[in-house]
Amino acid sequence: MAEAYTGGCACGAVRYEISGEPVFMNHCRCRDCQHKSGTGHGSYLTFKREGAKLSGEATLWDIVADSGNVKTRAFCPTCGSPLYLTFKAMPDFIAVHAASLDDPTRFKPQAVTYGIRAYDWDQLDPKLPAFDTMPPR
Ligand SMILES: [Zn+2]
Ligand SMILES: [Zn+2]
Repeated sequence: MAEAYTGGCACGAVRYEISGEPVFMNHCRCRDCQHKSGTGHGSYLTFKREGAKLSGEATLWDIVADSGNVKTRAFCPTCGSPLYLTFKAMPDFIAVHAASLDDPTRFKPQAVTYGIRAYDWDQLDPKLPAFDTMPPR
């Protein structure tokens, strides 16, 4: 079995360890991801939640996403690093921020979501499939 995906916040107070391979890796350009990242997009690896072990006390914040679904954002109350998010409509999944990984080179983006919110100053790999919102399920 592949090595677990480990990561955490900048100060080390909140950590995670996830076994299993990501089911989806994407850059998301929705307005919420822009607010959260402070730039033009957020970058995520999504996993089955059953393989995730979380430690430390993240602060949770619910937001209604562009899609209308409720997402719960988890960030470190001390250093403010964004860590992961969970989805009310898809409780079996957890998405972690790519740069929160101990080894961010393990992020291999497959797609760009919410391309309708893109800015000229935030260029991503043009070879990636891009969706106006989310890919059809
Ligand atoms: Zn922290
Ligand atoms: Zn987004």
